[in-house]
Amino acid sequence: MTELAQKIIAGDRRALARGITLVESQRADHRQDALALLDALRTSGREALRIGLSGTPGVGKSTFIEAFGTFLTDQGLKVAVLAIDPSSTRSGGSILGDKTRMEQLSRNPNAFIRPSPSNTQLGGVARRTREAVAVCEAAGFDVVLIETVGVGQSETMVASMSDIFTLLIAPAGGDELQGVKRGIMEIADLILVNKADGELKAAATRTCGDYAGALRLLRKRPQDPDLFPKAMMVSATEQDGLDAAWAAMVELSEWRKAEGHWQKNRADQAVHWFEEAVKIGLMARLEASDAAQDAKRAETDAVSSGTTSPDAAAARVLDALK
Ligand code: GDP
Repeated sequence: MTELAQKIIAGDRRALARGITLVESQRADHRQDALALLDALRTSGREALRIGLSGTPGVGKSTFIEAFGTFLTDQGLKVAVLAIDPSSTRSGGSILGDKTRMEQLSRNPNAFIRPSPSNTQLGGVARRTREAVAVCEAAGFDVVLIETVGVGQSETMVASMSDIFTLLIAPAGGDELQGVKRGIMEIADLILVNKADGELKAAATRTCGDYAGALRLLRKRPQDPDLFPKAMMVSATEQDGLDAAWAAMVELSEWRKAEGHWQKNRADQAVHWFEEAVKIGLMARLEASDAAQDAKRAETDAVSSGTTSPDAAAARVLDALK
């Protein structure tokens, strides 16, 4: 593992892809190797700016990432793109993993694109994506974009592994806020209204104003400097506003670093994922234990017939794990 780690740290692309394949593997014996690899990679001490990006299908995520990723590489930055695709976890079909997406960026030597692993549970995808982020950081990428489709749970997950969370929005026809849930607004650091070009420009301006107003109504968060979170207009196809969006991301991350929020956020996220890992591990043990499964069946009947309380029954099932 140390050899693979050295190659990844040295910037070897094939080693990088192998490393990610290893952390994505579901095989138990690969898991040990993956953990050893991640430990070895931690020694690099490198940190990327992790940017979460979410938006509904059709809002322009791939077009934006293609344009923004190219803009960043033009600034001399190395960019990795990882995706969490909640549709692939259910159906095996993918709305993000399509190979034709981001064609130009995928050929760029300073960019690396990895589609979402398919056919796994969302919890498992979260772990693998976090680990893939760690592999990309050790490989020396300056920016890691973590993309997801906006369907609630996956957005919260991406926000919990990002330094900055960005929501991509399309110009609205009416005056409604497009059903963007308040919870999602509350985790956004930047709202980018895409397609601010041509005939859509006027609608984009209106939408951007609406979101700016809505953001001002939210409770002030300690991790935000003045004027953040903010709503801005971009056009992915015209490559317009990308520099301003990047400047806002840099301003925000530098302020958070100077104020200690960046470090605290990463520490909190690490503890969150640690607790998730304990829960997932406990569930796996519960499922693998015949004694616990027997107890669970018996206790389910007892709870259902009202002869015991749910909590007492749960305690007995957990006791069966000992
Ligand atoms: P995704 O599903 O979020 O990845 O969206 P896509 O990137 O595939 O874009 C969906 C559609 O919106 C495509 O037809 C794009 O050409 C179009 N689109 C994306 N960005 C822009 C933009 O900035 N302006 C305009 N006018 N159209 C855009």
